[in-house]
Amino acid sequence: MTPRSRAGSARAAHCGVPTESAPKIPERQLAAGEQYRFHFDMTKCIGCKCCVVACNEQNGNPAQINWRRVGEIEGGWYPNTQRLHLSMGCNHCLEPTCLKGCPVDAYSKDPVTGVVIHNAQTCIGCQYCTWNCSYGVPQYNPERGVVGKCDMCHNRLAEGREPACVGACPESAIQIEIVNIAEWKRNYAASANAPGLPSADDSLSTTRITLPASLPPDTRKVDLDRVRPEHPHWPLVFMTVLTQLSVGAFAAIWLLQIFGQQARLNIAALVSLIAGGLALGASTLHLGRPIHAYRALKMWKRSWLSREVLLFGLFSNIAFAYAALLWLSLPGSRFAGALTVLAGVAGLTASACIYLVRPRPAWRSKHTVAEFYLAGALLGPLLAANIGLGARQWLIGAAVLAGGLQLLNLTVKFLWLVSSDVFELKASGRLLSAQLRSLLLLRSALLVVGGIVLPLQAQGAAGLRVALVTAFVGEILGRYLFFVSVVPKNMAASYLSGRKAAA
Ligand code: SF4
Ligand code: SF4
Ligand code: SF4
Repeated sequence: MTPRSRAGSARAAHCGVPTESAPKIPERQLAAGEQYRFHFDMTKCIGCKCCVVACNEQNGNPAQINWRRVGEIEGGWYPNTQRLHLSMGCNHCLEPTCLKGCPVDAYSKDPVTGVVIHNAQTCIGCQYCTWNCSYGVPQYNPERGVVGKCDMCHNRLAEGREPACVGACPESAIQIEIVNIAEWKRNYAASANAPGLPSADDSLSTTRITLPASLPPDTRKVDLDRVRPEHPHWPLVFMTVLTQLSVGAFAAIWLLQIFGQQARLNIAALVSLIAGGLALGASTLHLGRPIHAYRALKMWKRSWLSREVLLFGLFSNIAFAYAALLWLSLPGSRFAGALTVLAGVAGLTASACIYLVRPRPAWRSKHTVAEFYLAGALLGPLLAANIGLGARQWLIGAAVLAGGLQLLNLTVKFLWLVSSDVFELKASGRLLSAQLRSLLLLRSALLVVGGIVLPLQAQGAAGLRVALVTAFVGEILGRYLFFVSVVPKNMAASYLSGRKAAA
């Protein structure tokens, strides 16, 4: 049986009588410089979601996880309105951003077919790829502790059978085609973009979309006004703030040592080391498969997540040596302190870079980098002042300066979000000024009280202790807001969808 006739018999077994049209899968082999891609014909799609069900059945996914989704867009003005559907799996992009960020190299682009394949055995469930795809394609399965996504049913294709979604579509709205890669790179913008989809520029999507000859005016996602807080990623909230505190504290310890302070440096180093250790422990709680956490080092040449793990690993080891030298009063501690600060600052930089991803515009800004550094510059000196390292007025001065700058950063970021014309930025601003307003006000108040007022007014140890706790809670709350208020790029959802982008 030829691939074509097999496709036909599979089609007949599914819902509806399909209209005869172009072949559902290619009738020839791929040549050099070509790959497979999806073609989606919006003029044929009726939004029945047979493709979604077939995909879930084929891949054994539960109902709440959909590797293929159907979204809705609408346009026009009453009574001349029109609603259209958009069915999408993975776009098997030419420059897959999911692949570039993965710290364990779980993604590969098949050199023959061009299909982007995810290896669940290798995946550690860090979910970084879910932040790196503008279409929201990779989906985390908490039961399995790994991510999964559409692989164009490449095993079926190899046997000459069409992917499950293609075979199930009663309207022949989805097909597999061959694309010339060089040509597509030149012309993709005309056929890979559609209302309700993020720009194909981010990863060079290969899906070709046939739009109606004329779209109604003002065609856009049906869920444009439905914006909800994202997942808080609590382990990452604590991990990032604690690492920043630890790096800031070691920087304060080392600087005081350089300027001749000796008292209690060893105690401060031990406390800072414990904070760093807690941070590393918290980070593993974010992984779906923490037992394989060591694999995250693998892609340090390409992935910021791998670099973060590597640099914070170095930081904690050197910081341990620094603390030991201080406790044992051995020579070389100043040098070890300098290396500790260097590794810590490099780790903080890698940590901030993880969040500078195109699909999450509210994170992709200098405010993220500033927020991370300033959290360390605020909490580190406050911790050092609490331990009584001396030079109290300098430590408090540094903390208050960082607190003031953090407040400025928070304010400028908020104004930037609410005044932006970019949908995702404006929507983040809307979340912060409406649904999350009380938390934003509380975060600002904690920053002012813990980072500025109390340190300036505290006379004794108790006041400084309250200042540190207040500022720490403020930064935790700030980081929570950082995670939940981001509005990712994504494809249109369906009108009735719940929390998911589309189904
Ligand atoms: S659509 Fe997303 S998951 Fe698929 S290849 Fe492109 S970047 Fe990767
Ligand atoms: S290891 Fe992380 S980035 Fe890589 S596939 Fe798994 S969840 Fe995605
Ligand atoms: S692509 Fe086909 S199966 Fe999927 S919703 Fe549209 S018509 Fe239904």
